[in-house]
Amino acid sequence: MSITQNLTQLKASLKKEVTLVAVSKTKPIADLQEAYNAGQRVFGENKIQEMTTKWEALPKDIEWHMIGHVQRNKVKYMASYVSLIHGVDSLKLLKEIDKQAKKHQRRINCLMQIHIAEEETKFGLDASELINLVQTDEFKELDHIQVVGVMGMATFTKDDSQIRKEFKALKSIFDSLQKLLPQVTFISMGMSGDYKIAIEEGSNMVRIGSSIFGSRNY
Ligand SMILES: *Cc1c(COP(=O)(O)O)cnc(C)c1O
Repeated sequence: MSITQNLTQLKASLKKEVTLVAVSKTKPIADLQEAYNAGQRVFGENKIQEMTTKWEALPKDIEWHMIGHVQRNKVKYMASYVSLIHGVDSLKLLKEIDKQAKKHQRRINCLMQIHIAEEETKFGLDASELINLVQTDEFKELDHIQVVGVMGMATFTKDDSQIRKEFKALKSIFDSLQKLLPQVTFISMGMSGDYKIAIEEGSNMVRIGSSIFGSRNY
């Protein structure tokens, strides 16, 4: 099926309160243009340089989401245009985003990445680290970032009950964070393989790549 057909089907199956982030990493600009022509306006990338090249080439009403791990020294390259950074997992990184956002006189929305998977390799904070972080004075002083939610990735497994358990854990962290920060509204969970479970468990933002653009070659 074509990108347009994939997108149309997927969107028809999602409730309107669920934001679809079309994950276009590694895909050529022509593929993103096709998705754009089919009405898609939110794209997710995991490399700052690649995202910036695509931002330069494509229409300016696209919302660009950084979904990958962010190195502090590269924040400056996306600070003028990025809409949402999903993978924030330290106060140090928040401070750098705040500093770069200030230079552009804007406020950058961020999601805190939570470690919910069993795998050691996935980035993120645990619940208590998150709750401690947002209660520090240093965090409260940052006025050019806004934490608007959480993001997490489940273990890569065929065991649906394991995935569901991890998503439930993220939803409960989201609920606790929302009590402390009223601006928290987004729970970014679910990819091509597990977004249906994620939505059942309360996700309102899914990051979907291969089900729209086809598989990637790496
Ligand atoms: C690549 C990626 C996705 C999309 O994965 P698919 O399985 O292709 O849908 C979602 N989230 C993150 C953080 C990713 O890196």
